Amino acid sequence: MSSVSQEFTRVVSGMRPTGSLHLGHYHGVLKNWIKLQHEYQCFFFVADLHALTTHYEQTDVIEQSVWDVIIDWLSVGINPGACKIFIQSKVPEHCELFTLLSMITPQSWLERVPTYKDQQEKLKDLDLATYGFLGYPLLQSADILAYKAGLVPVGEDQLSHLELTREVARRFNYLYGKDKGFQSKVDEAIEKMGRKNAKAYLKCLKAYQEGGDADALETGHALVSSQANLSLGDRERLYGYLEGSGKIILPEPQALLTPVSKMPGLDSQKMSKSYNNTIALREAPEVITHKIKTMPTDPARVRRQDPGTPEKCPVWEWHKIYSSTSAQEWVQAGCTTAGIGCLECKQVMLDKVLEENKVFRKQAEEYINNPSLVKEIVRDGCEAAQNIARETLQEVKTAMGIKF
Ligand code: SF4
Repeated sequence: MSSVSQEFTRVVSGMRPTGSLHLGHYHGVLKNWIKLQHEYQCFFFVADLHALTTHYEQTDVIEQSVWDVIIDWLSVGINPGACKIFIQSKVPEHCELFTLLSMITPQSWLERVPTYKDQQEKLKDLDLATYGFLGYPLLQSADILAYKAGLVPVGEDQLSHLELTREVARRFNYLYGKDKGFQSKVDEAIEKMGRKNAKAYLKCLKAYQEGGDADALETGHALVSSQANLSLGDRERLYGYLEGSGKIILPEPQALLTPVSKMPGLDSQKMSKSYNNTIALREAPEVITHKIKTMPTDPARVRRQDPGTPEKCPVWEWHKIYSSTSAQEWVQAGCTTAGIGCLECKQVMLDKVLEENKVFRKQAEEYINNPSLVKEIVRDGCEAAQNIARETLQEVKTAMGIKF
């Protein structure tokens, strides 16, 4: 059971500025963000500092990439009216919290993050034996904890990073959550709950701390959440007291598991610039047409009259994403009986991809032609983000005894 305060329904997520985004990003991440922005208080940031952890020798491309990524987000429907968009380095509290957390994070926790060794192996041509690269999962922790985010959209492969964040938050709360007068403040808060609720709370506390009853912990949390007359500080103390720690200063975020993207590259491998199998979100229509028309198909269809198997064809994977059920039935019937040709088959899906691309390009145009509007969106996002991060830093520094 975690110590997430129930109030925190804030979602934070970032993306590295890797240049123009492609359909893999759209189907894998951005469609999810578009949905989340209407369900939670969302903060989406371009992680330019993270880009530096691997590309510190090629910084000249980062700035343009940042703006490209933001325009891509806006063009697909990330709506600044529904969420906040900001640039990581423009909110220096990320760096400040990173530094403070680095004081309490054992080096071994970072060394054992699975992606540390994997990435070093994968990116062999880069010198990643740096302190910054070792520390980047902790920078991610700071990115999340600065906002006390309750939820973080992650894929299965990033769960270890989130676990690190949770461990760091737990350690922080354990070390610094017991402020002076903690017990008397807890007693006061319990009293504020009224006799009946206080009794129920203490019963949950006993059941959890003595018997490890997770249901009792949940009930205790719900009980505290429902007390309208408690201040936020009271609640955090009571959550922490329930779990046997101090006040929860940095709540542990929960994973919001992102469904695995079904969008493959043009060659059916994972869509990635390094495989040269992508279609950019704002790619020119003629380039898209060429790329799709030259996509590999089922190798069994050497001649038009050879029947094929859609499941062995990359084009079919794209039909499953872009084509209607009736079009998919048409493909199945036509391919397996050699009733349709591959170009004819591709055209149906291509039309849909182009239709979508037209919308993205049109929406992007509005922002490309109005850079000051984009800057204003980012300025507003940075300000909103910083207001929250600043408050967290104040609490963190006070808890750590940095009160000058
Ligand atoms: S007809 Fe369509 S699904 Fe079948 S092999 Fe050709 S492109 Fe692939």
